[in-house]
Amino acid sequence: MTHHPNSKESLTFDPSDWQEFGQLAHRMLDTMLDYLQDIRQQPVWQKPPQAVKQHFQQPLPLEGQSLESVYEEFLTYILPYPKGNIHPRFFAWVQTTGTPLGMLAEMLSAGMTPNVTIGDHAAMYVDGQVVDWCKQLLGFPPQGSGLLVSGGSMANLTGLLVARQSVDRERIRQQGVLAGGKQLVLYASSEAHSCIEKAAEVMGLGTDALRKVPVDDQYRMDLEQLKRMLAQDWARGVHPFCLIGSAGTVNTGAIDPLDEMADLCEQNGLWFHVDGAFGALAKVVPAYQGQLAALERADSVAFDLHKWLSLPYEVGCVLIKDAALHRETFALTPNYLLNHERGLAAGPDSISNYGIELSRGFKALKVWMSLKTFGVAHLTGIISQNIEQMAYLSRRVEQEPMLELLAPASLNIVCYRYNPGGLSTQALNTLNKEIVMQLQERAIASSSSTMLKGQYAIRAASVNHRTRLSDMDALLEGTLLIGSQLHTQ
Ligand SMILES: *Cc1c(COP(=O)(O)O)cnc(C)c1O
Repeated sequence: MTHHPNSKESLTFDPSDWQEFGQLAHRMLDTMLDYLQDIRQQPVWQKPPQAVKQHFQQPLPLEGQSLESVYEEFLTYILPYPKGNIHPRFFAWVQTTGTPLGMLAEMLSAGMTPNVTIGDHAAMYVDGQVVDWCKQLLGFPPQGSGLLVSGGSMANLTGLLVARQSVDRERIRQQGVLAGGKQLVLYASSEAHSCIEKAAEVMGLGTDALRKVPVDDQYRMDLEQLKRMLAQDWARGVHPFCLIGSAGTVNTGAIDPLDEMADLCEQNGLWFHVDGAFGALAKVVPAYQGQLAALERADSVAFDLHKWLSLPYEVGCVLIKDAALHRETFALTPNYLLNHERGLAAGPDSISNYGIELSRGFKALKVWMSLKTFGVAHLTGIISQNIEQMAYLSRRVEQEPMLELLAPASLNIVCYRYNPGGLSTQALNTLNKEIVMQLQERAIASSSSTMLKGQYAIRAASVNHRTRLSDMDALLEGTLLIGSQLHTQ
């Protein structure tokens, strides 16, 4: 008999009493299911008190405590002070509502904890299936490739890195942006999301290389201005390589003239990238199929599944038309990642050959379970519902004499302000900012804000499957009430 002298080998992170652990686990599950079912009864937001902030300034625990007591702390100090994005009255930024199904899927995927990078195991095939479904959702060519990533920012960066690779396939990975000797420049509208700017910085191009094209009165890229800027840039000897369209801008939900942009890219040999973080999925809605048809013509499309698919954070997707170029951008096979003919190291091409990350979680499971359970028809219904609710909000804003629409409502975003008349822009900006803060503090509704042409806008965006028309009414009535109270003061 082999003798094992190491007395410490009984150590593990597994529970010492599985039965007791299981009871607590069921309690946690029941608590969360009750919480989700009754979420409407909770305040949309409440400020975390001082005691909460202080609770998270403790020293590193050197010895453990019981899981039960840790869970009690979760119930006392964490769960009651959420951001509110799963609440039916949440219209701030563009944030997922999550689903009970998504919560369960996260538990199952964490339970399995596969590393979904290489190997012959089921999660790899689920991941591949989900990427294929994403292509089908957007009508993207089936021979294209794709990658699930943490979110829209990472999806945009990944797509733009493939765009950069297309400039000089032989040298760019060795020589970086200096390959070819010309400054690379790319174009997006002034309304493009800030992650595009970050991507330009991270890629070593710098923000000067990102040329911001002015927009028209619908907040869509102005193509005449774009052509003028392109001509200027060619004349001064820099290298325009990529045009970025927005399918749903973050400020107003505007959709750039994607079809014309695709034409322009074809004529001039530019890479056509689309940031469709939330808007791309609206392609499943018949009324938007025309405006979003050109997604099929893009060289790369970035979009989120933790926005309109309502999945828990985090999951986004990038699709690339030229699968070979995609692989060429990232493929790198060190000795410890060789594929074998058989065994665990057989199976599909390593997913690390298609992106920046190596170890990857099983985020595909929640997408797979959600699409299978609800189907595209239900997703289409949810997206249409949000679009109709926001159209309703926009109509109501136009009907209220004290409210003013600040941008044409598009997709799922409405920008408006309280305007009783006779106030300067500065005074209106201050007044409306106060309204937004009080709407949140009084737990009436959470909206966010933006600046449009120097005017402070209350910005309501919704990818919220729990919202009902009465919640839109509550937002407007709250705005009117707080607005009149502040104005008469
Ligand atoms: C949300 C958003 C992003 C960024 O996506 P993340 O998932 O937050 O990284 C990019 N572009 C647009 C238009 C967005 O709405």
